[in-house]
Amino acid sequence: MTNHIAENLLSIRAQIKQCAVTAGRDANNIKLLAVSKTKPVSDIVLAYEAGHRSFGENYVQEGVDKIADLKHLTDVSWHFIGPLQSNKSRLVAENFDWMHSVDRYKIAQRLNEQRPNYASPLNICIQINIDDEDTKAGVLPQDLMPLLSDCEKLNKLSIRGLMAIPKASKVKSEQLASFKKVQDLFATCQQKYPQFDTLSIGMSGDIPAAIECGSTIVRVGTAIFGARN
Ligand SMILES: *Cc1c(COP(=O)(O)O)cnc(C)c1O
Repeated sequence: MTNHIAENLLSIRAQIKQCAVTAGRDANNIKLLAVSKTKPVSDIVLAYEAGHRSFGENYVQEGVDKIADLKHLTDVSWHFIGPLQSNKSRLVAENFDWMHSVDRYKIAQRLNEQRPNYASPLNICIQINIDDEDTKAGVLPQDLMPLLSDCEKLNKLSIRGLMAIPKASKVKSEQLASFKKVQDLFATCQQKYPQFDTLSIGMSGDIPAAIECGSTIVRVGTAIFGARN
């Protein structure tokens, strides 16, 4: 059987390189996160065998189960990218390397308390509700700087930057308009926090626009693993 996942990874990596060239950027500064939510562990193994090492999961229990199943793959990094209820924060703090969707202080505080002492700091992105949509999680841009100040004292967290999911659109000019707002906000943050190095934007349908606007992590599911049910 052909490994379509391996082929898809090759073509997405090529697309990322091409977009980087077009945007005048270094492709080494753009990481590909393979979003494996709802897909079986066997698909993750196929991606792993094709050389891929970082995976994103949206649902806490599903993610934790997969991490346990694949514990022998010690060089994988696991990113939590979904909404998180505070009563599940411990599972994220204990099992994941990255958390992209922190949207309130209470979650940050709990993750900090629950991050085990033996583990390195949990890498964090703050999720921004960039188009002010009622249906989306994330802090509003005007609430970001106060949240970041509050997080400064949380020493088991390493705040790396911002994440956003823009208003769904297939039109590139609209994608660019949303991503440009995140890019500008990220630049503002970097004035106060020059160590911020991560802008987690871009999914299967908007990779070129995201890379044009400075994405350093694209989170890609469908284009690697196929459509989800
Ligand atoms: C599902 C999901 C993705 C991947 O979306 P695709 O369109 O399948 O590439 C990326 N980010 C988040 C937060 C998601 O929930």
